[in-house]
Amino acid sequence: ITPPALSVFETLESEVRSYCRGWPAVFDRAQGARLTDEDGHTYLDFFAGAGSLNYGHNNPVLKRALLDYLERDGITHGLDMATTAKRAFLEAFQNVVLRPRDLPYKVMFPGPTGTNAVEAALKLARKVKGRESIVSFTNAFHGMSLGSLAVTGNAFKRAGAGIPLVHGTPMPFDNYLDGQVPDFLWFERLLEDQGSGLNKPAAVIVETIQGEGGINVASPEWLRALADLCHRRDMLLIVDDIQMGCGRTGAFFSFEEAGIQPDIVTLSKSISGYGLPMSLCLFNPELDVWEPGEHNGTFRGNNPAFVTAAAALNTYWADGQMEKQTIARGEQVEHALTAIRAESPGTPPDIRGRGLVWGMEFEDKNRATAVCARAFELGLLLETSGPQSEVVKLLPPLTVTPDELDEGLRTLARAVRET
Ligand code: PLP
Repeated sequence: ITPPALSVFETLESEVRSYCRGWPAVFDRAQGARLTDEDGHTYLDFFAGAGSLNYGHNNPVLKRALLDYLERDGITHGLDMATTAKRAFLEAFQNVVLRPRDLPYKVMFPGPTGTNAVEAALKLARKVKGRESIVSFTNAFHGMSLGSLAVTGNAFKRAGAGIPLVHGTPMPFDNYLDGQVPDFLWFERLLEDQGSGLNKPAAVIVETIQGEGGINVASPEWLRALADLCHRRDMLLIVDDIQMGCGRTGAFFSFEEAGIQPDIVTLSKSISGYGLPMSLCLFNPELDVWEPGEHNGTFRGNNPAFVTAAAALNTYWADGQMEKQTIARGEQVEHALTAIRAESPGTPPDIRGRGLVWGMEFEDKNRATAVCARAFELGLLLETSGPQSEVVKLLPPLTVTPDELDEGLRTLARAVRET
């Protein structure tokens, strides 16, 4: 039975709704790591807009910057116009993100969403190399358009395209290798074997930690070997940092730990910092083969997003504190999850993650959904991940306080005990 407050969602909205569907409340406002529904119940948010709210809801610094900008009638929608807001963002990105890491990337604004950034990355790789196939990994998630879905490993989501998708070649992700340092010999043999049917790929696209795929963590060794293979075999390496970038794993870019430098990087989700749609495609300057207008779209110049993005970079990434804080909070999560694991009867859940992204995989595939439902009743927002929704995913805002983290982790422990 649907409560009256939810009936218009049930009757009018398409069945396609998925994320947050298990939360039977109508939400009204939010601050930091907490949301409040229209009846005044509060919830601790360990979902953070699927990783798009790394600085929390209505972050006061970003909100002030946004309100000041709107109050002085700053440009809201600018397409490719040169604006003061866009300049402030580009300068912050250059000074705070690229220069300190010695990264030479050019910046492209491919559209509002992560999918737009992936689509641009795939197009660019095909155009540069003049080859159509892209290698991706089992359980990868790169987006919902036909191109990004072709490199997404989730059969259920691929089925949404109705007909088979072409040009994507799946390969096994790191977690099948049980910690061995890979040599990718099998991949090289496939590339050499004309009978294998593998046309030489233009690029390889990878997430350093598969967020939607179940918090599968690639080892730095595996990532380094993959980068080396791409280099030797003339394939571009695309790191999709849409969910794991912007500080989620502790470093601004998730690939920094492995010490690799991808040819192309996609960013979105938390780049605006305020949940405003914005995405970036970054690439080595020699790959900038685009002709003016060859890839565009109306909603690229989201100037309010440039304002909050610049404020987020200048506030949180100029002094190195964010990295240390995220690692410390991550250790707090790992400690608590290890205790939950130790107390679990039966097969203990598998725990994996880094920084402030963690997953808890249960053997019983329905358990993760049950844990999230109980957590909701106890005032904690959590979502599942993985091909069969078998993983409880923890993505608190990076600005969560130690006390809030402790409170949420105690609630999670209780939800696990009671399901
Ligand atoms: N790539 C990764 C790694 C993602 O996690 C997502 C979204 O979850 C996307 C791409 C697609 O981004 P969007 O949903 O903004 O289109």
